[in-house]
Amino acid sequence: MGTRFRLFVQPPFEDPRSSPEIVEVSSPLGRVTAGPADDRMFVVKPVGKTGPYGLNRGPLGTPYMYLPPWTGKILEPATPDACGNFDYLRPSMAGFEAAHVFGCVRFTLDVWERYLGQPLTWHFRDHYDRLEISILRRWDNAQYGYGFLEVGSQFESDGRVLPFSLDFDVIAHEVGHAIIFSVLGVPHPEAEYPEYLGFQEAFSDCVSLIAAMHFPSVIDNVLAETRGNLYRANRLSRFSEFSPHRQIRSANNKRTMAEFARGWKDEHELSQPLTGAIFDILVDIFHESLVARGLISHAVEDLADVAEFDPAAEAPVQHAFDCAFARNSDGFVEALIDARDIVGTYLAETLWALAPDFLDYGDVARTMLAIDQDESGGQFTRIISRNFRRRAIGEMHAGPHLKGGEHHSHVHSARTLLPIDYLELPKMTFREKVLLSRSMGSQ
Ligand SMILES: [Zn+2]
Repeated sequence: MGTRFRLFVQPPFEDPRSSPEIVEVSSPLGRVTAGPADDRMFVVKPVGKTGPYGLNRGPLGTPYMYLPPWTGKILEPATPDACGNFDYLRPSMAGFEAAHVFGCVRFTLDVWERYLGQPLTWHFRDHYDRLEISILRRWDNAQYGYGFLEVGSQFESDGRVLPFSLDFDVIAHEVGHAIIFSVLGVPHPEAEYPEYLGFQEAFSDCVSLIAAMHFPSVIDNVLAETRGNLYRANRLSRFSEFSPHRQIRSANNKRTMAEFARGWKDEHELSQPLTGAIFDILVDIFHESLVARGLISHAVEDLADVAEFDPAAEAPVQHAFDCAFARNSDGFVEALIDARDIVGTYLAETLWALAPDFLDYGDVARTMLAIDQDESGGQFTRIISRNFRRRAIGEMHAGPHLKGGEHHSHVHSARTLLPIDYLELPKMTFREKVLLSRSMGSQ
């Protein structure tokens, strides 16, 4: 029997009506202890931790490597109830945040370990047994790196602080990076193409999207809102929009590689053609599955394709979907779950087959087509190749990195940092070391 947690699918600050749903994750009941903690990971809320892990600067400005474990004080951990569950914790209670972030990580891993066919082995296993999940309220970002997954908050101009620990999308996206590091790995610095960085972001967005589609409420709400016409803007196709990170990410976008051929500034933007292509593949597989089940006609499917470009076709398409959905909504649910699992499996298989050196989007497209050939004898070849071609993926490539985008780039800092990299850092003077250890000691 698994362990129960209460998770928000949509964070409460984004949708005030949302309430956390009870889910059961695979951790055996009774094996998750206070923290929460198990043999794979543990949550801490450090007291006095002033900065995130990664490359930091000492009191005199010398860069140094800051990695787990946190050895200072921590806030009271979340404890399980008498049976070993955490779902008794309500949002207003101390411990809810810690239980929530743990539950989100475990839930996302459960989904993706099924697609990957095996438990994830942390890429930092040489140095740490377990992932430290740390909640750093006063920091404005979220990151996964060597031995840690760290979540901060979104600071709004009206003074509100929106903790990422309550945001499933953000947490699941970081788990996506963990999966890439473990399964695909990091390229040698001289073999890193910009599209590897874009792939990191696109794949992580897909990890989050497909994990969210494992909440029955997400499937139900999406279908209730769209009646299966998934090109309509809806919560599935639009990653939540309150965060600046995600404002620039939208799965339902029309961007192509032509926009980036002369250069790019930010890997989140660069990820959009690929994320968009994968989302369109999911939608097309779903629509084709509706046709195969006799739920919509070929004519409606074709009209839905036209409506993408011709607004005049939108109303008749919606009307056709409304009628079809009313006739057999359960069939729509099954078709969407099928499409989700086909795309999830193809992405996982693609990740196993890729190599990080000189990786570009064309490799991703070719590999996915080969996987389709293997898995289904090429059932979705037309859909996959058409959607990659529309984005000029594999035909046009990202140009040079243009200055000005570094602020948002996190792949080159905390994420890819390895303990051995300290050799490349300048040596800190004894005086600065003393100052640093004093400032750490007072935390
Ligand atoms: Zn990311």
